[in-house]
Amino acid sequence: MYMNEYQFIKDQDAELYATLVGEEERERTGVELIPSENYVSKAVREANGSVFTNKYSEGYPGKRYYGGQKYTDQMETIAIERAKKLFNAGFANVQPLGGAAANVAMYFALMESGDTVLGMDLSHGGHLTHGHPTTAINKVFNFVRYKMKDVDTGEIDYEELRRVALEHKPKIILAGFSAYSRELDYAKFVEIAKEVGAYTVADVAHIAGLIAGGVVKNPFDYGFDVMTTTTHKTLRGPRGGMILVRESEDLAKRINKAVFPGMQGGPHMHSIAGKAVAFGEALHPSFKIYAAQILKNAKAMEVVFKKEGVRLLCGGTENHLLLADVFGSLGITGQEAETVLDEVGITLNKNMIADETRTAMDPSGIRFGTPAMTTRGMKEGEATKLAEIMIATMRAKDDVVKKAALKAEVVALCEAFPVPERFV
Ligand SMILES: *Cc1c(COP(=O)(O)O)cnc(C)c1O
Repeated sequence: MYMNEYQFIKDQDAELYATLVGEEERERTGVELIPSENYVSKAVREANGSVFTNKYSEGYPGKRYYGGQKYTDQMETIAIERAKKLFNAGFANVQPLGGAAANVAMYFALMESGDTVLGMDLSHGGHLTHGHPTTAINKVFNFVRYKMKDVDTGEIDYEELRRVALEHKPKIILAGFSAYSRELDYAKFVEIAKEVGAYTVADVAHIAGLIAGGVVKNPFDYGFDVMTTTTHKTLRGPRGGMILVRESEDLAKRINKAVFPGMQGGPHMHSIAGKAVAFGEALHPSFKIYAAQILKNAKAMEVVFKKEGVRLLCGGTENHLLLADVFGSLGITGQEAETVLDEVGITLNKNMIADETRTAMDPSGIRFGTPAMTTRGMKEGEATKLAEIMIATMRAKDDVVKKAALKAEVVALCEAFPVPERFV
């Protein structure tokens, strides 16, 4: 527990305080391998818990619907300018409440109802917000798909992508994923989009921090029109979303209108303050080292899984995450693996694999990644060790004695690498 933290909650609300203490303990004593999670700095949490939560600021800096905006305007402008610099963008909207909200606003900014989006197949790594049948936007827009050509190399079937694009004439070609571990050929996307007159949008929710750190490709360097993202995954900011435009002022205006008043009311100014602090951290030279280490740690885990004969989807990783077919390789289901790893203090999630033969609730795979453990300062040695612990745990799923020994190793690792408060 940090000194004097949550003092007021402790004094007035014991019931709620217990949950904070519990969560802090959980985060401190377990290894977090969910690839969409991270630990933010104390500075980000200060901003996120700040007085900016008191303020209504509908509109944009200089054009608000309420008075008293001297400091909110300054603060949001700082966030916008930092975001532009980080991603080499012409325009940034930092108000979306999350990645899903950013995507919905982007769809409405770029399309009319009934228009078509061509996106990554959800079972091949795409995200729910790319038109899953259970989502609201699926009722408004038409979603068609491309897939991987070979699930064991991760190569996208660009010929199929082009064929579907020519057939369906999408308004948007969407590149982006939450369960895919290769770089995309962004130039190819742009080439096909030009042929059919579509916008190119990259949903970089997972890899934004890697782009900002310069260790994976930036879609804007290949001519993409728009990027949507979360701010709380590899970018290591508060929960939230953001939309970036490469250069078109017209697109930027449409996106601003689609976010407010199109979709949202008052922006969460405390969250935007947290984004500004996180962007400041990401602009610091140390963030490049952090981003590079995320990749090195993921590679180190890949080496162990391959050595132990576990099938990795996409044949390995070029980013922060890995997908393993544990059912096919170790005879343990994704749900069983999630549960048994949780028992030894390792948190990750079960995941459907491409061409899944099991169910969503108990699929064949697990998905895991290195952003959070890298924030704790762990390097290749620890990543190797963790991968070995993971495989040993899955092999010893019913062996209580072995699991106790493995858990002790995880606890020791966590004690050696406390969650840091300061990154710059
Ligand atoms: C996480 C994610 C989102 C959704 O972000 P939320 O903040 O949870 O709404 C959207 N797209 C992709 C690709 C993601 O990985």
